[in-house]
Amino acid sequence: MSELDSVSAYNLDAQDPLANYRDRFVNKDPELIYLDGNSLGRLPRATIGRLQDVIEKEWGDRLIRGWNEGWFRLQESVGGKIAKLIGAEPDEVVVADSTSVNLFKLTLAAIRAQTGRHKIITDDLNFPSDLYVLQSTADLQSGSYIERISSEDDIHGPTEQISNALNDGTALLTLSHVTFKSGFIYNMALLSQQAREVGALTLWDLSHSAGSIEVNLRGSGADLAVGCTYKYLNGGPGAPAFLYVRRELQERLGNPLAGWFGQKNMFALDLDYQPESGIRRFLTGTPTILSLAAVENGVDLLNEVGIANLRKKSVAQTEYLIHLHDRYLAPLGFKVNSPRSPQMRGSHVSIGHPEGWRINQALIEEKKVLPDFREPDNLRLGIAPIYTTYADLYTAVMRIRSVVQDELYLKYDEARSEVT
Ligand SMILES: *Cc1c(COP(=O)(O)O)cnc(C)c1O
Repeated sequence: MSELDSVSAYNLDAQDPLANYRDRFVNKDPELIYLDGNSLGRLPRATIGRLQDVIEKEWGDRLIRGWNEGWFRLQESVGGKIAKLIGAEPDEVVVADSTSVNLFKLTLAAIRAQTGRHKIITDDLNFPSDLYVLQSTADLQSGSYIERISSEDDIHGPTEQISNALNDGTALLTLSHVTFKSGFIYNMALLSQQAREVGALTLWDLSHSAGSIEVNLRGSGADLAVGCTYKYLNGGPGAPAFLYVRRELQERLGNPLAGWFGQKNMFALDLDYQPESGIRRFLTGTPTILSLAAVENGVDLLNEVGIANLRKKSVAQTEYLIHLHDRYLAPLGFKVNSPRSPQMRGSHVSIGHPEGWRINQALIEEKKVLPDFREPDNLRLGIAPIYTTYADLYTAVMRIRSVVQDELYLKYDEARSEVT
């Protein structure tokens, strides 16, 4: 790629076999460059009609009968569709609760099953909420402690140090498959296998990998996983999360947040808890049907395109974006805070600048570019290949350049807002 002018961006879009999918999403403002699909995916057009039906026909007309007309099995049926995106079997994935809650349930389930083992290994690139959850589960299981391994450059995961830390005292290894700040991809197969060799279980957070890169949970030998549906799966704000438990482990693990949705014959209303067999035992209470229904169309779209095709475009786009960065933004004091090797990089590129926060505000307020900001100085540019165009990337880089060159950021406040 030598010609990095806007003409080449338009050429790349013209040759893009996935280009038509952009129109399957709501896109009211053609001027807006949306680079935050890794925090909140766009609204699929089909979801609007689906939600209208769920509200007017299912809730409005069918009322309580809705439970027997699809709602009761919806957590499993949508889970089965997500399973296709992450290399799992349909009966290994279920949609429920939030990622943090699912992480809590599966972490505690795992460490309780690992009698005599006390160490939980994670890293300092993990999402803060994950670390908080790990701490509270460790507090509930006497003797448990966390070994948090540090990345040397804050970009690449400390794979070798993690391998070295795995031993026969390790109960659980848990990591974000793709790290939220730098977008580094861990080698799931390698670490899952090394964990298994010492008898440790693995739990992968797929929030930034589901729907953006190829994930093969079964093929990698991963034991457990959780992940978001409102990011690359386009499920909508606060949409319920998913969890995966490898089939062979399902009967061995208990749900530490037992509830009636995981009870065997739940409508017998037995007073003593007896877990349902299979993945349902990891359910707790009544699912949020409205937001659960909103997840399905986004997942269907990704399955229609195929994750291999999405990944191919995502790699081409992150490569293109880094080329543009090197040419237009590096001279202005930016640096790439994501792996340069595409095999190690997910679908977002973080670029750091000492004035990152103020630049981010100017982009949002004046330039109609929506990235997001991650401390200390990162603009995180998220690419959702199902709707991001090459022209989006070119235009975004030109607008970022102009914010810095024209010093548009100077009038913004250094103080952070409540939600960054
Ligand atoms: C986005 C994200 C979460 C979010 O968890 P919620 O419970 O939905 O708030 C958790 N973990 C990771 C790695 C994430 O990227």
